[in-house]
Amino acid sequence: MLRHRLEDLTVEILKLQTTISFFYKLKYRHPHYLNQLSSGVDIVTLAADWIISTCNTNMFTYEIAPVFVLKKMEEEVLNKLAIQVGWHSFDGILSPGGSINNLYACMIARHRTMPCAKELGLFGQQRLVMFVSEDAHYSNMRPGIILGIGLNNVVAVKVDKRGAMCVDDLQNRIEEAKAKGWKPFLVIATAGTTVLGAFDPIAAISKVAQEHDIWLHVDAAWGGAVMVSETHRNLIEGVHLADSVTWNPHKLMGVILQCSALLVRHKGLLSACNNMSAEYLFQPDKHYDVRYDTGDKTIQCGRRPDAFKLWLGWRAKGISGFGQSVDKCLALSEYFEAEVRKRPDMFVPVLEKGWYANICFWYVPKRLRCRPHDTIWKAEIHKVAPLLKEKMMFEGTLMITFQPHKGMPNFWRAIVSNPAVRKEDIDYAIAEMDRLGAQL
Ligand SMILES: *Cc1c(COP(=O)(O)O)cnc(C)c1O
Repeated sequence: MLRHRLEDLTVEILKLQTTISFFYKLKYRHPHYLNQLSSGVDIVTLAADWIISTCNTNMFTYEIAPVFVLKKMEEEVLNKLAIQVGWHSFDGILSPGGSINNLYACMIARHRTMPCAKELGLFGQQRLVMFVSEDAHYSNMRPGIILGIGLNNVVAVKVDKRGAMCVDDLQNRIEEAKAKGWKPFLVIATAGTTVLGAFDPIAAISKVAQEHDIWLHVDAAWGGAVMVSETHRNLIEGVHLADSVTWNPHKLMGVILQCSALLVRHKGLLSACNNMSAEYLFQPDKHYDVRYDTGDKTIQCGRRPDAFKLWLGWRAKGISGFGQSVDKCLALSEYFEAEVRKRPDMFVPVLEKGWYANICFWYVPKRLRCRPHDTIWKAEIHKVAPLLKEKMMFEGTLMITFQPHKGMPNFWRAIVSNPAVRKEDIDYAIAEMDRLGAQL
């Protein structure tokens, strides 16, 4: 009886979702939706998401989330992730997203270098400076605004031809800042940059960070998924040397949004940095062990039990199941990239060698083929992408994103992050781009 009702309900909800998608011609579950780092719908974590919503509870205290807290679901899933990073002792938290977790990392790093800022603010203190690759996700710069450090003190470090951080430039920038009497406190390496998919050389960056006694955060929001893959893990070599890591299971691992982890190698700092000890929530004389009330180390009060999604997903698939779907997406990305390279008249790859699940290329309509890639060509190519995107969106047959990047004309960034995608879908995507774009 209950099962039937649940099945009916599922059908109704999916219909509703289809209706919402239909009106805007967006089919997030469709294998021709190659637009975003999160896509597809994973049934197990979807079920978990519904259960969480049904409970409608909060993670902050044991008394209202006994199962989520006492079964140590958050601890358990964080532990599973930390083991992949290579840590056996750690602290951590699940938050609504990689952007928030990158903010946490900056807060902790600041607290480690300047604990007095918690009480005194930055007033009259030495000028703090942090270092981020110029290709990093914008959520790594924004803490400059939020934490009062100032965007001018978030220093952009150069990247090489493939979009990975130049360690020499990092070293120079740190020395420059020190020479001015400023206080470098944090360097953020990216594992899987948002546009090009580049992995910064973490081990080499760690050496520089240690030499200058700077916190090393690794933003692996996008690229963290390689840690569940035996085949692709080598991309993130050295991640265990980080002081903290952001990792989004809601991207390539397919967990339903939102599910994002911050892992910290040093225990106690999260709480030291954030705790406010509100008496009406975290009473020290409760009838149970108040160490179960973990809510005070977060900057949120209410927090969804997102851990349950990853917990149930892990039960259903295990690391090997997650690994298989990551490997599948990455094999398809390789296939996509190879197909792009097979058509040098139609496509121009952005990088000599691509990275990860990011396939970056220019699409060339017929009139611009076999022409030198001069300024005029580039200006024309720049205009082609938004026109072709408009056609894609109006026909509703395909969706891929484009962007300009550091002075380069608009190019396409296709992403295979949905394990439901097949080779035929990639062949289709290529043919469809040309069908819609050849005459532009
Ligand atoms: C997506 C992404 C983020 C932000 O994650 P959200 O969960 O969307 O907040 C941060 N860093 C990188 C490298 C990303 O690709």
